[in-house]
Amino acid sequence: MDKIKMTIPLVEMDGDEMTRILWKMIKEELLLPFIDLKTEYYDLGLEHRNETDDQVTMDSAEATKKYGVAVKCATITPNAARMTEYNLKEMWKSPNGTIRAALDGTVFRAPIIVKGIEPCVKNWKKPITLARHAYGDVYKNVEIRVPGAGKAELVFTGEDGTEIRETIHTFQGSGVIQGVHNLDKSIASFARACFNYGLDTKQSVWFATKDTISKKYDHQFKDIFQEIFEAEYADKFKEAGIEYFYTLIDDAVARVMKAEGGFIWACKNYDGDVMSDMVSSAFGSLAMMTSVLVSPSGVYEYEAAHGTVQRHYYKHLKGEETSTNSVATIFAWTGALRKRGELDQIPELMAFADKLEQATLATIEGGRMTKDLALITSIEQPVVLNSQEFIAAIRETLEQSL
Ligand code: NAP
Ligand code: MG
Repeated sequence: MDKIKMTIPLVEMDGDEMTRILWKMIKEELLLPFIDLKTEYYDLGLEHRNETDDQVTMDSAEATKKYGVAVKCATITPNAARMTEYNLKEMWKSPNGTIRAALDGTVFRAPIIVKGIEPCVKNWKKPITLARHAYGDVYKNVEIRVPGAGKAELVFTGEDGTEIRETIHTFQGSGVIQGVHNLDKSIASFARACFNYGLDTKQSVWFATKDTISKKYDHQFKDIFQEIFEAEYADKFKEAGIEYFYTLIDDAVARVMKAEGGFIWACKNYDGDVMSDMVSSAFGSLAMMTSVLVSPSGVYEYEAAHGTVQRHYYKHLKGEETSTNSVATIFAWTGALRKRGELDQIPELMAFADKLEQATLATIEGGRMTKDLALITSIEQPVVLNSQEFIAAIRETLEQSL
């Protein structure tokens, strides 16, 4: 069989620890034998980030803007322990944070549904994709502990000196206050990212805030979404047979629990933090989630939602067997390859991505899986494979389908 040809490179961001090991196995077993893989390689492993003073992360983000599609391996976000472990010059920032800031993106996370790993919510039949706004609100707050009686005010001073002033509260005793903000520009790019992703995946978009209580702050989110939808997306949505649906956050939560799934749930920053953990754990496992960062200019970066699986890596280093689930990392590759195929009009590449995903799911449905899944599956007597065997089993299934 001839290998599938690519025209424009994918930006490949290698990473750390156990996921770096899986990365290599996936390329060697599942990609290179079938594709004339064209990538521009950036080593975001912590050692190389340290050597380059983190320039490599910035360069990889710039390359992503240039080529439009990237695939990223999980990376270590350094903390004090990593400073000594890797003898770092500095406590480098989270690569995901750097890349997100450079691409001005929204992160979409969706569970990978497979027979045998059932969601705890019985009526969820299709994936629910969480779209989390990643700027502002309580994540960029300013807080004061009020020591005692006094007046708290909210004051805005314009560049021309004009003031807007509101009393927050006249305290009779001690308490707390908090100031939060957001930017119209950031809210607008969040809205566009959600609508574009809805069109891209042919799924309706739900959005919810608490605008009945927060009549200016949350209302601003609601208004910006509505204006952008009407001006730029209403016709396209109609054509695609999908809809934009706005409701209150408490109503949305109730509806989500009773829904079938198959839609995108756009959430403000805090709601997205809380609800994505609820949705992902109800669907089964972080290793069974896709994650893609989408920028308003239409740039895509695919990754796994989990970390570098440090505990398994230390076992691996000691020569012990690991059973690390590679599904999320495989789906990061298939997502990126399919998008590359779509943009460059290479149908064989898109078909290959579909087949590799199907082979991965079929392998699990056939009862062969990693330990994390074996613990939660409803399939009787699953065969537990180690990291390498699982990838080999997927290759076997894939080869039968090609
Ligand atoms: P983690 O890598 O997500 O792993 C936490 C635990 O979840 C593992 O010990 C394992 O449980 C289970 N797990 C996660 N992924 C798994 C998989 N693919 N297969 C099987 N089990 C899996 O989180 P962490 O250990 O807290 O973080 C390790 C490093 O990852 C940190 O340095 C952090 O900075 C980084 N991180 C990176 C990203 C990213 O790049 N996107 C995201 C999060 C964290 P058991 O040990 O019980 O088997
Ligand atoms: Mg969280």
